[in-house]
Amino acid sequence: MRLSRYFLPVLKETPSEAQIVSHRYMLRAGMIKQASAGIYSWLPLGYKVLRNIERIVHEEQARAGHIPLLMPTLQSAELWKESGRYDAYGPEMLRIRDRQDRDMLYGPTNEELITDIFRSHVSSYKDLPLTLYHIQWKFRDEIRPRFGVMRGREFLMKDGYNFDLTKEDALHAYNRHLVSYLRTYERMGLQAIPMRADSGPIGGDDTHEFLVLAETGESEVFYDSQITDLKFGDRQIDYDSVEQCQAVLEEFTSRYARTDETHDEALFNEIPEERRRTARGIEVGQIFYFGTKYSEPMGATVKGPDGAEVPVHMGSHGIGVSRLLGAIIEASHDDKGIIWPEGVTPFHCGIVNLKTGDAEADAACEALYASLAALGLEPLYDDTDERAGAKFATMDLIGLPWRITVGPRGLKNGVVELTSRRTGESEEMPPEAAVARIA
Ligand code: ATP
Ligand code: MG
Ligand code: MG
Ligand code: MG
Repeated sequence: MRLSRYFLPVLKETPSEAQIVSHRYMLRAGMIKQASAGIYSWLPLGYKVLRNIERIVHEEQARAGHIPLLMPTLQSAELWKESGRYDAYGPEMLRIRDRQDRDMLYGPTNEELITDIFRSHVSSYKDLPLTLYHIQWKFRDEIRPRFGVMRGREFLMKDGYNFDLTKEDALHAYNRHLVSYLRTYERMGLQAIPMRADSGPIGGDDTHEFLVLAETGESEVFYDSQITDLKFGDRQIDYDSVEQCQAVLEEFTSRYARTDETHDEALFNEIPEERRRTARGIEVGQIFYFGTKYSEPMGATVKGPDGAEVPVHMGSHGIGVSRLLGAIIEASHDDKGIIWPEGVTPFHCGIVNLKTGDAEADAACEALYASLAALGLEPLYDDTDERAGAKFATMDLIGLPWRITVGPRGLKNGVVELTSRRTGESEEMPPEAAVARIA
């Protein structure tokens, strides 16, 4: 992409309504624009990162054997009356009436809708196990929308639902989700720690939240510092293996890590004092096992091996896709701007032309652009006639992992400058070497 043809409305001033760094940088980098309280338009740069996050989520769901579909945002109230949650959900649910006077709602979550799909089409245990998921907009009329996309009213969520014959099978699905989430967050450059949590209006006994440690997080968390040494890495795992998934769950949940809702001071005090940590965290996902809470009242049953009808065991599993942008920035930035992890960066590198209009500099930039593109990489080429300082400030703000700086002086010696956004280190090298380093 050439910056002269792109739509990147960066702001010079720090918007006064933004209280935390991720919100400030998202506004300043022209990633989002508030449409109304807690509702945002995704401008091209923000939209690109959002799509990258979605792509990672889809890839990791596929790896775990989960199947994508798409359910609507608007739902009929009927199903929620069946499950008993229509009244229970409270004022966070946006209720709408259509012209026929039917009660509708903008889905805050989809247990009812998916259970209805399941009961309409699945009748035998032979079709199990089954896990369906989608990435779709949700609406929750949060009492205090704030921090930009971190607590929006309209937000993008990945929500998945497993259907199993037995509790044991459903707990395997739970563990499988835990494993796939660990991989998902790590690919985004995040450490998200599974913590024992409270199930809230989704219901159920077994639940873990995934938390990214950050001072601006809204949850208070308590954990054993040893847990931050754990890394999933790129180990190969058979998602069908009950033992392998169970082993990962044990490894990642056996040390003390809880949110304030489930915190147990006595248990916490059993950890050696130097390892006890109290901090704040951002909830970027949650997994639940809730058994037959929805399948029973909604009649989602299958015929078991012995011919008897039994309600299926279910769980639901959510990732805060749009919140993740904020969480990633909270975890990865400096005082100049965002530092995107490679996995989600909107462009792989920036090219800064120090002297647009200079034939040699222009040609060198074009050649770099072409060779990066030929490798499947997407550069953002600043071909505008802004002064160098402003170009650097914009590149630092939008946080691309690499910047190649091209100017007549370097070109005389056959070199360009390659700068790492994370370390700030610059090195001169021939253009081909810079391309090779990025690829
Ligand atoms: P919170 O405690 O932050 O209100 P929640 O527990 O109500 O979140 P879940 O029902 O567990 O949310 O939804 C799954 C995920 O969706 C959450 O882990 C979070 O990452 C994301 N999410 C929830 N509410 C919002 C929101 N208002 N804005 C952005 N993301 C959200
Ligand atoms: Mg909530
Ligand atoms: Mg929560
Ligand atoms: Mg939650």
